[in-house]
Amino acid sequence: MGYKKPSFIENIAEKIGIIPNLHKEKYQEFDGDMRQFSDEEVATMYENFPPPEKWDDWVEYNPKVWPKKEKTTYQIVPTTCFNCESACGLTAFIDKETQEVKKFEGNPHHPGSRGRNCAKGPATINQITDPDRILYPLKRKGERGEGEWERISWDEALDTIAARIRKAIKEERQNEIAYHVGRPGHEKFMNWVLQGWGIDGHNSHTNICSSGARFGYNIWYGYDRPSPDHAEAKFILLVSAHLESGHYFNPHAQRIIEGKMKGAKLATMDPRLSNTASMSDYWMPSYPGTEAAVLLAMALIILEEGLYNREYLENWVNWEAYLKAKGVEIKFENYISEMIKEYKEFTPEYAEEESGVKAEMIIEIAHKIGEAGERFASHNWRAAGASNLGGWAVARCLHFLTVLTGAVGAKGGTSPNSWNKFSPTQPNPPAPQKVWNELHFPKEYPLAFFEMSQLLPHFLKEGRGFMDVYFSRVFNPIWTYPDGFTWMEMFKREDKFGLHTALTPTWNETAYFADFVLPMGLASERHDINSYATHGGTWVAFRQPVLREAARRNGNPVEFTYEANPGEVWEEDEFWIELSWRIDPDGSMGIRKTFESPYRPGEKITIDEYYQYIFERIDGLTETAKADGFTGDFAALEYMKKYGAYEIEKGESYKMNERAVSEEKLKGSVTDPVNGVIRKDGKDIGVMVNGKAVVGFPTPSRKNEFFSQTMVDWKWPEYATPAYIKSHIHNDVLDKSKGEYVLVPTFRLPTLIHSRSGNAKWLVEISNRNPIWMHPDDAAKWGFKTGDLVKMNTDIGYFIDKVWVTQSMKPGVVACSHHIGRWRRPQDKIGNRWATNTVNIESDGNGGWKMNTMSGIKPFESDDKDSKRIFWKDGGVHQNITHAVHPDPISGMHTWHQRVRIEKPAPDENYGDIFVDTNKSHEIYKEWLAMTRPAPGPNGERRPLWFKRAFTPDKTEGGAYYIKD
Ligand code: SF4
Repeated sequence: MGYKKPSFIENIAEKIGIIPNLHKEKYQEFDGDMRQFSDEEVATMYENFPPPEKWDDWVEYNPKVWPKKEKTTYQIVPTTCFNCESACGLTAFIDKETQEVKKFEGNPHHPGSRGRNCAKGPATINQITDPDRILYPLKRKGERGEGEWERISWDEALDTIAARIRKAIKEERQNEIAYHVGRPGHEKFMNWVLQGWGIDGHNSHTNICSSGARFGYNIWYGYDRPSPDHAEAKFILLVSAHLESGHYFNPHAQRIIEGKMKGAKLATMDPRLSNTASMSDYWMPSYPGTEAAVLLAMALIILEEGLYNREYLENWVNWEAYLKAKGVEIKFENYISEMIKEYKEFTPEYAEEESGVKAEMIIEIAHKIGEAGERFASHNWRAAGASNLGGWAVARCLHFLTVLTGAVGAKGGTSPNSWNKFSPTQPNPPAPQKVWNELHFPKEYPLAFFEMSQLLPHFLKEGRGFMDVYFSRVFNPIWTYPDGFTWMEMFKREDKFGLHTALTPTWNETAYFADFVLPMGLASERHDINSYATHGGTWVAFRQPVLREAARRNGNPVEFTYEANPGEVWEEDEFWIELSWRIDPDGSMGIRKTFESPYRPGEKITIDEYYQYIFERIDGLTETAKADGFTGDFAALEYMKKYGAYEIEKGESYKMNERAVSEEKLKGSVTDPVNGVIRKDGKDIGVMVNGKAVVGFPTPSRKNEFFSQTMVDWKWPEYATPAYIKSHIHNDVLDKSKGEYVLVPTFRLPTLIHSRSGNAKWLVEISNRNPIWMHPDDAAKWGFKTGDLVKMNTDIGYFIDKVWVTQSMKPGVVACSHHIGRWRRPQDKIGNRWATNTVNIESDGNGGWKMNTMSGIKPFESDDKDSKRIFWKDGGVHQNITHAVHPDPISGMHTWHQRVRIEKPAPDENYGDIFVDTNKSHEIYKEWLAMTRPAPGPNGERRPLWFKRAFTPDKTEGGAYYIKD
């Protein structure tokens, strides 16, 4: 049943218009199958938003002074949210009289979010009016980290940084320049910049976020993310909390609910009764790290009961290679029987023993998945994939189910992310860099899916290199990363970080240890291109500085965005172009040419030119713009400035692996007689399937790789096929008699995002504590009740938190949300006062660090009257800083789950107390490093050539991709 009939009262209320009519006749015409909104219905929905033709003159009356009539006339300018990766559409309401942004609402023309936002979208208004925000470029005074700053000009910052970069490049010290990004935003912009400089200088947060799951997907089919078609699915399986806080949170959540409304069933595997689990038809509270065992048990049922899609497996899996490696006759039936043999130990009973999920539920869900067939949508992002030694195997086993059902790329199934994502064509594309930076991709981790960013301070500590010019961009490793005190130790040393520039819209724990703090715009104050795989369709959105756009519309255009933004808040696009131009002022270094206008040879590119160049290359956009009345040379850009988004493709991008290779492309190609792979000019371009030349997947076999020769070649033959890897926090390795538990420290609260919501008062008012979730049985065992203090001992120290006793937690597992516990020191004076405790930090000079809370959150005087009304005091506890680094030896992902020893604190220990020994953390880094199997791989390669790599260096044989000695 997917549709609930309206009650008698609802019927009457809808008819007389007291509530909106949600049960129009047409809506009722479905019987558990797919329901489609017609264009007319969508148009009706849009009527609830101000129509675009009125966006320059939109009148609203102040509801607070009713019945008096107080009118405000707004200019409405679209942009996109910056508070999580989804980049949902926003519309800024700008008071025409004062030219101030007064509020943000959804943008109905954004195909991903369709006018809807989560709480964090409208809270952008808090962020741009935060009294503690950084308004001007700052330079440190005194020692690094002392807390003294002076205002400087943008010119001073640019000239100082440019001179240092120029010197490093000229002295061939390219690997001493790095840009480290927390929240990325603009598609490919930094590739353009850093490759324009010829450096391998990109580092990211991805190895503390999503690279585990990425590896698991990539090893199957060459794409590193899934794009589930939730709205069209019949069965949805989530290994995490997607409805409330997962990847592409709001766009996915609305489509999961849409799918459910049509009759889809939802299952969630999570040890916590998350909001998602509570909305599910099946909750599987699995013991952390055992998810792959459950998924393999489902796979075995599907195989044994013949619920698999034979045609798909036969055509789109490299099963012949598997049988060949096993020395078994190459016959499809043998493939099925060999798989059944391979996974025979994964009975539902074994999976229950490992995970705690009931065998009956595993069987029932396996049947539902088999019945859903191609309409099986699934997702695993952070959660299990990001938390366990071998977490990447969870994504791999999940995709196994997608392959078995033939749901890969099917309508209602799960597509590769890239099929639903736009990739821009940029002007003057630079050549790939000719250097390889081992501080980001060290030899020990040849398969690491992203940069080993969590190990950077350990590499610096043991003398592997030096960061002469280091940018942190919306990036706060001291707080967000594990082992933050080691980061702090390194940041304090100028022989480790020469010049640290923090590009950030708001103060954070890392910016306190920078040399320059440069204020960058929030969502409505910067340019970016966004495109994400939110559903079966493709869109592009334009984040734009709304006050700049309003000024342009009003006939007062500005040259640089900081002229329109509050204070001198700038944006990165213009900053990087200016910086690049100053690094190479006369063009002699070959850098400047990347940043020249494609329309005015030899001149510096403008921001409008950069975006026009990209937009005019999007199929159909210029034509749509012209049809909308834009006639000039920059019609495509004008359209994007007006609507903020464009739908490139509505949802026909299914089964793209089956696209034919054109006759033209086939000319001169050679087909491998064994596996059917078609090759031309040294590149694989397709594969023969059923006598047809089709493009396939970007893997060596051009098919889904059940058997991975890559894993064999790179010294991990035991994982040649999907496997269950026991986690570092498996029950077998915990000593319950010593009070050891597994701590799940990864879950998000739907109202917060990492360290970026501390400047949003509405969000902090809703969520400001992070207690330890504990089941009543465990609490009873310890004698804890809600609010009691608990000491959580990790491998390198401890933190003291409070207990929250709740049945929403699986017994034997404890959890703590990761956004809270923000701090500042007394010398830091200001910054995020809605969310930060004031703390005292002491070092014993020998790796021992103590932090204790001096005061919680307090009301304060400011221009915002609400700052005096703060009623919450408890700012939570910073847990991540007490975690050691645990890099998975294959995927490189930091494995977040912690073995903790629970105890009651001593009488002199207090809430918020923290202790860490960074010598111990360095020892643990070495223990995990010893688990790796370093490069080179075949032919001296640093990394499999077919694996994607962020900011791919030159792949020419013998070049950067190869180890020379
Ligand atoms: S899901 Fe929420 S935070 Fe994320 S982009 Fe959308 S509105 Fe912003």
